[in-house]
Amino acid sequence: MNEFGTTTLKEHISPTSLSMRISWLAVALILWSPAWAQMKARHAAAGQTEGERRGALNLDAARANPLQLRNFLKNMPKGADLHNHLSGAIYAESWIRAAAEDHLCVNLASLSFAKPQAAAEKDSSDANCGEGRLPAAQAYKDQGLFDALVDAFSMRGFVASTGVTGHDHFFDAFAKFGGTGHRHLGEWLDEVATRADAQNEQYLELMHTPEFDHAKALASEIGWQEDFAQFRDSLLAHGLRDGVATAKAEIDQAETLRRQRERCGQADASSACGVEIRYLCQVLRGFPKQQVFAQTLLCFETASADPRFVGINFVMPEDGYISMSDYTLHMRMIAFFRKLYPKIHLTLHSGELAPGLVPYEGLCCHIRLAVEEAMAERIGHGVDVMYEDRPHELLKEMARNHVMVEISLTSNDLILGVSGKNHPFPLYRQFGVPVALATDDEGVSRIDLTHEYVRAVQTYGLSYRDLKQMVRTSLEHSFSPGDSLWRALDNFATPVPACSKDSLASDKSSSACGAFLKSSEKASQQWELERRFREFESAL
Ligand SMILES: [Zn+2]
Repeated sequence: MNEFGTTTLKEHISPTSLSMRISWLAVALILWSPAWAQMKARHAAAGQTEGERRGALNLDAARANPLQLRNFLKNMPKGADLHNHLSGAIYAESWIRAAAEDHLCVNLASLSFAKPQAAAEKDSSDANCGEGRLPAAQAYKDQGLFDALVDAFSMRGFVASTGVTGHDHFFDAFAKFGGTGHRHLGEWLDEVATRADAQNEQYLELMHTPEFDHAKALASEIGWQEDFAQFRDSLLAHGLRDGVATAKAEIDQAETLRRQRERCGQADASSACGVEIRYLCQVLRGFPKQQVFAQTLLCFETASADPRFVGINFVMPEDGYISMSDYTLHMRMIAFFRKLYPKIHLTLHSGELAPGLVPYEGLCCHIRLAVEEAMAERIGHGVDVMYEDRPHELLKEMARNHVMVEISLTSNDLILGVSGKNHPFPLYRQFGVPVALATDDEGVSRIDLTHEYVRAVQTYGLSYRDLKQMVRTSLEHSFSPGDSLWRALDNFATPVPACSKDSLASDKSSSACGAFLKSSEKASQQWELERRFREFESAL
């Protein structure tokens, strides 16, 4: 007999049943313990479901180990990436491949692609590339050149040096990998959708600049007009709408290629086919005002004619000379167009600024102007919010009006040098401003959306329910057409009456709910998200 007296027990029961009894006893003791009761009460009080409780436990177990955390967050449903520049999302390796296929050359001094000399465009031999240039395909034989190009096209290995900041290197990359053929666009869609699918994302709004040479030429031909209505009429009368057909054809061709590559509709279709892609038409804000006006008009016309373009955004460094000096004018232009095209959605890069990058006076009011003058529904970055005039009022106004902020933590760190406690992400959450994480330029930053979730959890100690709230927010604020699945904006407790008797996240819906989901692309995306959460949480 040992001190626990188990010999006596052994005389009556087998070892297996003994261990079962002991473990049942242990479970019973835990279940009756005050600590368990308190924990249960806490979860119930917080309205946490059993799945969310498992999510929270798994997140807490993974929190201390970045690799475990990444694995957990990679599989977690992430809804939408709403701030994703298509060209910035492409990794350097893909640009090099496209340039080699297109017989482009590399300018060795600037490490940028260049066209071969005109005589024989397909001949990118050393001789035809010219002095100081090599064929892009040479990168496959010269590891040094390959490495240099990857570094030039991204933030890999970047160390700031005199006169070259992270901001400069980041934005310069876009000019370096330009020049590859439009036919690659479908490959880019496939690359981005496949990466999103691998991380359990389901919806993307990709920023893309449709070809605008004609609009640009018309703008300089007609010249700036103070009367916006008259200027618009002149541009339209001179054929600005011709650009719409070009934009549509480009997307048609790209989507066809994406579907081919992913074998969509076939028996062996890639799961990436399930990633829904919509587009935001990009306007380049750093150019003369007549060009910005013409391109904005082209974007509003394109979005009106092609429902795949769900909205508009203004891009390029916000701290640039023209971006800063014409900012108010740009907001007035947008306000003018929004009255004419009320169905077209708007998100704006605003407050992608930091002290020192521009004078303090320059931090006064970009977010406020975007929200109040241009009536932006979402704000990209919003990093300088606490430097704006009356920031608390602004935060309350954004919360009241449900203006969502697209948060890109890595990009803000690399470009603006703003991170950790200096980033307003916790303040936005504290004031109840809807927020969702986004990648911005995952190729240039060499990240993915999961990376941003890992970073947010590690930096700000977010809970599982915080994450779920942000994921739901991403779809709630997508520009996908149709009504939300949720009865009240940003309140994810109660679904619309048509689906109130349904168990959310089930595979089947009632006929009333089914009819509603059929009528709304947004709600059906949200329904799918709930299904994915159930699947994810029940596998934990
Ligand atoms: Zn951006």
